[in-house]
Amino acid sequence: MTRKPDEVPAELMQELATLPVFYALEGRRVVVAGGSDGAAWKADLAAAAGAQVDIFAAEPCPRLKAVAVARPHLTLIVRGWRADDLAGAAMALAVIEDDAEAQAFRDAAKAHGVPVNLTDRPALSDFLMGAIVNRSPLVIGVSTSGAAPAFAQAVRARVETLIPASFSAWTKAARAFRPRVMASGLDFFARRDFWRRFTREAFARIEHAPQDSDLDALLEETRRADEASARGRVTLVGAGPGDPELLTLKGLRALVGADVVLFDDLVPAAVLDLARREAVRINVGKRGYAPSVKQEEITALLVKLAKEGKNVVRLKGGDPMIFGRANEEIKAIRAAGLEAEIVPGVTAALAAAAALEVSLTNRDTARRVQFVTAHTSDGKFPEDIDWRALADSRATTAVYMGNRTLPALSKRLLEEGMDPATPAFLVERASTPQQRIIAGTIHDLPQRVAQETLEGPCLVLIGATLRG
Ligand code: SAH
Repeated sequence: MTRKPDEVPAELMQELATLPVFYALEGRRVVVAGGSDGAAWKADLAAAAGAQVDIFAAEPCPRLKAVAVARPHLTLIVRGWRADDLAGAAMALAVIEDDAEAQAFRDAAKAHGVPVNLTDRPALSDFLMGAIVNRSPLVIGVSTSGAAPAFAQAVRARVETLIPASFSAWTKAARAFRPRVMASGLDFFARRDFWRRFTREAFARIEHAPQDSDLDALLEETRRADEASARGRVTLVGAGPGDPELLTLKGLRALVGADVVLFDDLVPAAVLDLARREAVRINVGKRGYAPSVKQEEITALLVKLAKEGKNVVRLKGGDPMIFGRANEEIKAIRAAGLEAEIVPGVTAALAAAAALEVSLTNRDTARRVQFVTAHTSDGKFPEDIDWRALADSRATTAVYMGNRTLPALSKRLLEEGMDPATPAFLVERASTPQQRIIAGTIHDLPQRVAQETLEGPCLVLIGATLRG
């Protein structure tokens, strides 16, 4: 029985308390009502965003007067607001103490079709104003949807420390570069590649203010890469054994840049979640005993997608080069004239060793570690194994896909003369919250395992050194 690759639909957005939008105010009229510090702050924000601000205040506070002097596009009108002041405004902002007046301001704004915000009055407001991290033209807004403004401020302060000041210059440079990139003759995929390289530079050189020469260098780099590759690319990424934190930074970067992700059943969902929301996710699940997608079909799909110019990530559990049939995929990718890149991952044996908190090597008791599979494509025990090597009392053996054949393995190793007291462990779902360890010896482990119900992938570790 075989399965077909199934495309997994992107998840819908989780419930969103408010929709963040970024309002373009350049040259537009904004009406502000109120004479307090709070009103001065709102007027200043609108003016900073390029609006023509009319602020109505019968009794302006000193701060408001100072803002009015400092901002050429801000007009302070020393009287209370009137309904027709709102005509033609793009936005209305107010800080009003009196409930009835606040309601009247909202009604007037609505009558003129103007979106309105009243400070500390969410019920009367069409939109909320968040805390701001300003690296214009890069702008980050933070809101708790009114739940806890002080918390929003703390989050803002945290984000401030994460976003270097130079991102303002990098974003400005991006704006200045864009027309040149568009006119560069690079096609859509190459331009996207350019922006990836640009972003990588911005993150890598946070102390640096970008220059025109940087643009030239990046364009040249992009051009060369574009010519060198047939564009489509496949990256084989090791997803690690289960804990998403065990994914490498390089693997994360590949995943974030992927257009399509082909993944196995063993790949942790939390790792898959790290791909972009728009990335197409295709389950090409290969399971030990359950129906699987045929390897040739997976390989053909990889090649087809990459030839379409897609950035394809082939995500495999653990490390791609350990019992992952990577060679077949790499060969097919190369044969199609495409590039394959490999990003290693933490293989299950190493996660199991971490779970046992014991080294797989030891100067006296284990000079050698061997990774074996005790499961062939027909689900039986492989007969062409070097049994003497497996029974070696000074080696540590990690057995992949070995739960079914464990009794046969144990019997055979004992026949080969292995000490029945040799420690042996089965680690189920290593590195995950469901991790389970069944401890025993090569003699009694099969029996102990038979008493349990196994639900996830299991790795068996055998060796004298595992006594710890
Ligand atoms: N490339 C993978 C191995 C693929 S073979 C790697 O490097 O880990 C699949 C086998 O790996 C499973 O049958 C099981 O023996 C083992 N395995 C994978 N993840 C595991 C985990 N979290 N815990 C225990 N064993 C695991």
